[in-house]
Amino acid sequence: MRRQKLKKPEKLLKTELQYIYNYTCRLYREGYIEEAINLSKNLVKLAFKYKLGSYAFKLVCRKCYVPVIPGLTVTYRVKRRGGKSYILTRCINCGYTRKKVFKHKGVEKRARKK
Ligand SMILES: [Zn+2]
Repeated sequence: MRRQKLKKPEKLLKTELQYIYNYTCRLYREGYIEEAINLSKNLVKLAFKYKLGSYAFKLVCRKCYVPVIPGLTVTYRVKRRGGKSYILTRCINCGYTRKKVFKHKGVEKRARKK
């Protein structure tokens, strides 16, 4: 008999962080902005303790610790240059921008086959 695999602690922690993030979003939407920022600061601290800092900054702005809510605190924009395209995320509160590059898969090959 094989033992059942235990859930990875990282995965468990990520769900926990998302739970806190949902709560901060609710606080922010209801107008408790300072409380939301304090909570998200704690979120980042907790994430850094377990080496999940990069994950925490997907949920929280790196500069002003406002929770990332698409359309409300952050705008997304997709841009294309050459063969690469990237997503620009811009924080409305402090103006911090972040680039995330991704590649198209097989777009050029399909065009050549035709
Ligand atoms: Zn910000």
